[in-house]
Amino acid sequence: MQCPYCEYTDSRVLESRSTEAGQSIRRRRECLGCKHRFTTYERIEFVPVTVIKRDGQRESFDRSKLLRGMVRACEKTGIHQSCLEALVDEIEAQVQQQTVREVSSNEIGELVLRNLRSLSEVAYVRFASVYRHFQGIRDFVDTLNHLQNPIELPHKKSTKNASTSLEHSPSDSSDMESEPSFITHS
Ligand SMILES: [Zn+2]
Repeated sequence: MQCPYCEYTDSRVLESRSTEAGQSIRRRRECLGCKHRFTTYERIEFVPVTVIKRDGQRESFDRSKLLRGMVRACEKTGIHQSCLEALVDEIEAQVQQQTVREVSSNEIGELVLRNLRSLSEVAYVRFASVYRHFQGIRDFVDTLNHLQNPIELPHKKSTKNASTSLEHSPSDSSDMESEPSFITHS
């Protein structure tokens, strides 16, 4: 990004934030040549990405839905909204960078989890419980074990038989909906 004062092409980003409901990113930059500060706006090139949901239905990728699901999972974890917005930017960028214009809701969920884990273990487990459709205590235990010993991701399918005989999903025990908002109907 060329400096408007000295035309130097290298700058340092001081701050990034989403604007226009996430349609563009405003960046505050400092020129590495003359130290002047200036603002740039990056607009996301709109190439629609289709999300394939678990039930096979398709819908277009909606970053605000994704953000809402993450905000809910991160309630009372002390994670600032701007942090989650940055995460959604990151995930959207990763989705947009793929050559394939389709992504499964599972892939998005895994991307979210990979990023949430370093932010908050509570948020990680909450998000995992919703999006992986935990069926019982066994799934929580697997996920907690994975947090302590992150060798490989616990795949819900492999634990399904073990968990069906245990308790049913704790659907009345929290404020979470049955699916994260990015995979539910609008
Ligand atoms: Zn400059």
